[in-house]
Amino acid sequence: MTDIVAELQEAIGEEKVLSSPVDLIAYSFDGTFEQHAPEAVVLPETDEDVAAVIKVASRLEVPVVARGMSSGLAGGSIPFSGGVVVSLTRMNRILEIDEENMTVSVEAGVVTADLQAEVEKLGLFFPPDPSSNRQSTIGGNIACDAGGPRCLKYGVTGDYVLGLAVVLHDGRLLETGGKSIKNVVGYDLTSLFVGSEGTLGIITRALLRLVARPQFVRTALAYFPSLDDSSRTASAILSAGIVPATLELMDETAMTCIEEAMHLGLPLDVEAMLIIETDGSDEEAVVREIGEVARICRETGAREVKVARDEAERDTLWKARRSVSPSLARQAPNKLGEDITVPRSAIPEAIRRIRAISESYGLPMVIFGHAGDGNLHPNVLFDRRDPGQWEKVEQIVGEVFNVALELGGTLSGEHGVGTFKLPYVEQALGATSIDIQWRVKRALDPQNILNPGKVLPDT
Ligand SMILES: Cc1cc2nc3c(=O)[nH]c(=O)nc-3n(C[C@H](O)[C@H](O)[C@H](O)COP(=O)(O)OP(=O)(O)OC[C@H]3O[C@@H](n4cnc5c(N)ncnc54)[C@H](O)[C@@H]3O)c2cc1C
Repeated sequence: MTDIVAELQEAIGEEKVLSSPVDLIAYSFDGTFEQHAPEAVVLPETDEDVAAVIKVASRLEVPVVARGMSSGLAGGSIPFSGGVVVSLTRMNRILEIDEENMTVSVEAGVVTADLQAEVEKLGLFFPPDPSSNRQSTIGGNIACDAGGPRCLKYGVTGDYVLGLAVVLHDGRLLETGGKSIKNVVGYDLTSLFVGSEGTLGIITRALLRLVARPQFVRTALAYFPSLDDSSRTASAILSAGIVPATLELMDETAMTCIEEAMHLGLPLDVEAMLIIETDGSDEEAVVREIGEVARICRETGAREVKVARDEAERDTLWKARRSVSPSLARQAPNKLGEDITVPRSAIPEAIRRIRAISESYGLPMVIFGHAGDGNLHPNVLFDRRDPGQWEKVEQIVGEVFNVALELGGTLSGEHGVGTFKLPYVEQALGATSIDIQWRVKRALDPQNILNPGKVLPDT
């Protein structure tokens, strides 16, 4: 243990290595309730620092766990096997905004919201919007292929990655992609690292695509007595040729939970609510589209539809959605937020089955998500200190994943596998896919030191 700290200090300088018990505990968590302390934490400032750290780890054969802001919800950045945590937060510079080519080049540790604010000053836009954009880094977003409400219209993080700089297991720097939009020379290594959760290399820099910032946004909220109608509405809106920027769904359990905590006046006799936004650079078109959305909602069974007239009203309409997480925290000491996806048409069936699971185990579950792309977040509320409850949570999660797979969906739309979903990955992907993925992993990490025990189940 002392050896590794001394070797790291020698390699990159004492001031970039943390090893006190307090520091190690501070770097032992992510956004879940699990923890495991590393043996050392490093705070690199350059590609060369990251390479030097990986070379030490490779020589000593200890794990290396990349870490952004540890907001992950799958245990991905928890160093369960010990070793070195590589925190990228000092590598947080925006290196270049190229207005003509609409690209931005950043270091991996830049906070997503900081990047968004900078490009928006120039009328540009980086659309992927995880709700954690103030608590997560671009490197972490790329490593998890993060999504968010706007992804229905604009796509997920990976859709904006044009190139990467990645430090490999032997300390070499791999640079992929570039500013050309079309590029089909060789395998698409950029995409290989998107969603790889730190298991194939450490991303140090990224070249990202930008779009023009939409000038106008309109927001509507609709209450539905019937869950099926709310789901049909999402499809009807898309079939009418409108691609909303967001199409968020909350079921009655989520609404009840928010109402108990926030007293916003949400109706408690409906089965679902939708928040829908249209955006663009032509105000008339945006207004026309939200009017059309409101009409479709009424036609497909909404009891009440509200359209915000200004920014203050828009803020009020969003308050319920933004209050979900704090409201859940008041209900139980712990929550496990899952992240399944199903085909859009299967949302009502998925919600009904998940509610039945919740009832059969006697633990409350709250469901909300992105109705437009079928990405649901069922949250189990429980007390981790009660072993009986934890056992039930594990069974519930297995059953929820079964529901997703049976309905033609999968285990994760945006949070990734980490360690939490490992037992279910083979069922989702099949043995051949797991075999091929292990071959890729072994080619890029022959010593299995890069975030071991994540993403791929043991074979
Ligand atoms: C309140 C809350 C809301 C959230 N909302 C959303 C949401 O709307 N959408 C969504 O997609 N997620 C959401 N998340 C989950 C989380 O914020 C995302 O997964 C995010 O992308 C993680 O970024 P991070 O910088 O915190 O990474 P970390 O949590 O530090 O790491 C996550 C994974 O990425 C790897 N990693 C991190 N940086 C690098 C790097 N530079 N190179 C290689 N691997 C790296 C880690 O090893 C780990 O496996 C939410 C989390 C919270 C707590």
